[in-house]
Amino acid sequence: MAGSNGRFEQNNSSNNNTGHTAQSPGISQLTARRFPIFDAHCDTLTEFGAHGQTLYDAPTHFNVKKQLAYGQYLQIADIWVDSAKHDVDGRVGKYIDEFYSQLDILKKAGSAGTAEYPEGFDVTLIRSSEELKEFYEGTDGRVIAKTAAKKPKAGFILGIEGGECIDGDAASFYGRETCAGQFCILKKLYRLGVRLITITWNTPNKMSDTNIAANPTPGLTEFGRAAIKEMNRLGIMIDLSHISDAGFRDVIELSGKPVIASHSDSRTLCSHPRNLTDDMFKALVKKGGVAGINFCTGFLGGSKDLAQIIRHIEHFASLGGIKNIGLGSDFDGISELPGGIEGAQSMYKIIDALLKLNYTEEQAEGIASGNFRRVFEEVLPPVEMLKSEKTLPSEEA
Ligand SMILES: [Zn+2]
Repeated sequence: MAGSNGRFEQNNSSNNNTGHTAQSPGISQLTARRFPIFDAHCDTLTEFGAHGQTLYDAPTHFNVKKQLAYGQYLQIADIWVDSAKHDVDGRVGKYIDEFYSQLDILKKAGSAGTAEYPEGFDVTLIRSSEELKEFYEGTDGRVIAKTAAKKPKAGFILGIEGGECIDGDAASFYGRETCAGQFCILKKLYRLGVRLITITWNTPNKMSDTNIAANPTPGLTEFGRAAIKEMNRLGIMIDLSHISDAGFRDVIELSGKPVIASHSDSRTLCSHPRNLTDDMFKALVKKGGVAGINFCTGFLGGSKDLAQIIRHIEHFASLGGIKNIGLGSDFDGISELPGGIEGAQSMYKIIDALLKLNYTEEQAEGIASGNFRRVFEEVLPPVEMLKSEKTLPSEEA
């Protein structure tokens, strides 16, 4: 869909005289500076460690060095849980520990400066609505980052892909220890900063079946329904990528807050069960949620290039969802990237393509970050919760 009031020519205006010196090769400084990014899904946390390097410059699709070229780039960093694998014991706790170690390393590098960013940079883990607003401050409420003279910002929201770890069998969190009380692990994850849970990955769990099951069980279980309510109460975003179609329908009906599909494309354009039907996307729109376009060529279909990402955006926009589309790259969770996309350094190309199609700057900014930003601001808990003596929102909330 094209915006009626195309302003593409304005793309050549204003300052590209940024305060930072270095860019990854190929970054369009102009676009990257002017459009903040929000990417709702990557698997880098479970990938980069294998290389024995840091999250700053691991040879992964996403790394912080690439992220910082954008001025403000928020990444939902997921810990992937697969209960069908036997390494699930203690996996979640281990990866959360490792993530916090990386945050320490990054914060030190941000204060000291690096070869690429000698003036330094900011690194933030976002856990509240206010922290999210603050992260994008200087973007004029929506468009045009005014970050030229400021340090670039790397933001993270911590997510879990696969709700096995909250199912009451504590093995995936604690190893062989146990945990008393329903949702004690969910509460622990909240205290550790987790703010998104993808209800299932490709393996059924105690909450729901998945959308790749041949004969999925019907919808949410009783436990799943209670978990949805508890996530609503805590301010944890519910992510419906991977859940069975019946589970999707049940969550949409039950959730008191908007929900997202962090990395799912259109099933009308590419008939894969991981994708959303038009009805599912419309239900998400009605709920105020957002779908993040997945860059996996197997879910995009067609010519395996960047044009396919645009095609899925166009389709969702044609269903009345221009404010309900975002980016959910699946970087480091997919083996093949579309032609033209090399990793986080290529995000600006999607914005460029939209502007060339006469999407307005406001529409392009919404897809690049604003739409996900809006829904997370609504769902994340208020910052007082982090300062308060109480460590959790009250039961009656
Ligand atoms: Zn996934």
